[in-house]
Amino acid sequence: MLTLANFIDGEWRAPLGGAYLPNHEPATGEVYSQVPDSDGRDVDQAVAAARRAFPGWARTPAAERSQLLLDLAQRIEANLDRFAQAECVDTGKPLRLARALDIPRAAANFRYFATAILHTESECYRTDQLALNYVLRQPRGVAGLISPWNLPLYLLTWKIAPALATGNTAVAKPSELTPVTAHLLAELCQQVGLPPGVLNVVHGLGSKVGAALVTHPTVRTLSFTGGTRTGADIARNAAPLFKKMTLELGGKNPNVVFADCTFEETLAGSVRAAFENQGEICLCGSRLFVEEAIYPRFLERLVERAKALQVGDPLDPATDQGALISAAHREKVLGYLRLAVEEGGRILCGGGAPPLLPPRCQGGYYVAPTVIADLPVNCRVNQEEIFGPVVTVTPFRTETEVIEWANSTPYGLSASLWTGDLARAHRVAEQLDAGTVWINCWLLRDLRTPFGGTKQSGVGREGGDEALRFFTEPKTVCLKYATESPR
Ligand code: NAD
Repeated sequence: MLTLANFIDGEWRAPLGGAYLPNHEPATGEVYSQVPDSDGRDVDQAVAAARRAFPGWARTPAAERSQLLLDLAQRIEANLDRFAQAECVDTGKPLRLARALDIPRAAANFRYFATAILHTESECYRTDQLALNYVLRQPRGVAGLISPWNLPLYLLTWKIAPALATGNTAVAKPSELTPVTAHLLAELCQQVGLPPGVLNVVHGLGSKVGAALVTHPTVRTLSFTGGTRTGADIARNAAPLFKKMTLELGGKNPNVVFADCTFEETLAGSVRAAFENQGEICLCGSRLFVEEAIYPRFLERLVERAKALQVGDPLDPATDQGALISAAHREKVLGYLRLAVEEGGRILCGGGAPPLLPPRCQGGYYVAPTVIADLPVNCRVNQEEIFGPVVTVTPFRTETEVIEWANSTPYGLSASLWTGDLARAHRVAEQLDAGTVWINCWLLRDLRTPFGGTKQSGVGREGGDEALRFFTEPKTVCLKYATESPR
């Protein structure tokens, strides 16, 4: 069985407490690896290594830092199969998706920030004939990077790449449920010759490793992606220490379909938005609003498409939907399906375990793609994040009504709208309270754009210049012109 180690100061270290956590393969329920159950002492070691490495890494010319990160990207691409296989076994997602989305995006994250730092500029202000002010943007030191299980390598590298590119060193804490790709990444760091201590990976529970990072006095920058409740805890604990943070949290995203949309494209996009990665993407369109004129036809076709999705072994290339991350998470999702019935919902397909699973997957954590109609907009199922293969569908009459409903949850991460009317598209996009609005598409990402949420979906933005600025500290230097010539 695979036993993972922490990666600290460029070497592999067992957790100081000697304890390990069992890691289950979601598709089978079997334990397949042991994850260090690290604690504050391991975090102390990692932070100390990152602190020692910081001055040298911060002084390393941008072109050299860039080259090392490009080497990492290239090696991830060269090891696509190995990474995708690990991601698939760790998360339960289809291998096909890990190959097409997660792993290429991890490489793209490194490529993007490795090249971005070669083209930065900073501001300069002339104060009349008196002085010149310029802004230095300097790395902040040791960054603490905490990520969730749903897109493990994709989201962790979305933090590691800008942190390292801008000259910070880092301690990364992947989710304890999906540690393997972070372990493989650490192997690549050794291979490309990343200086020891620049990136450290400490595995373990959020309550121990995550909490120790959040309150560590040397960690000045925190980048967190995960649940809203955890984000609130982190904000509470880090605020008195005046740390700079971004919190990327949950979502309950509306997907608004107007009658003048291109029907088939919208249907395909809505199915993807609802069920991609078993619905375990923070950006999933889990609340579908369809204009009355096309509601019956759209609903019928949606159910047909949901039923046709192949739920099965994530390693099978024919599988569209794999297993949920854990037994506990499956229970949470099933709990919401029971609640949906109590709240007056009509389950049109799915609603429990899929009927046919291969023998290897009998102990896996599966829920079939589920479509629910007839729920009130303000019920719990329509307001709370479920994070599973579940979509609710509601007909609407007017633009005003659907905007109000779309904005009615405590979340504001993303929204999609589908229409052939350009004026309406822009008008509605402006009024949707979300960090990202997609028009006639879903999850189309340009890494230069700001990414993040409003309301309880988070604080701060990642991506592009936002990330370069987040991981650096602006310092204003004011140079007064001489008033007399030197002798
Ligand atoms: P989670 O909040 O349970 O865990 C996220 C990470 O935080 C894990 O590494 C965990 O170990 C750690 N953690 C837990 N408690 C901690 C604590 N007290 N202090 C410090 N760290 C702690 O979330 P999850 O279940 O892994 O992920 C699913 C959630 O993530 C969903 O709500 C989803 O919407 C959200 N998410 C958001 C985005 C986004 O970009 N906004 C992206 C992906 C996932």
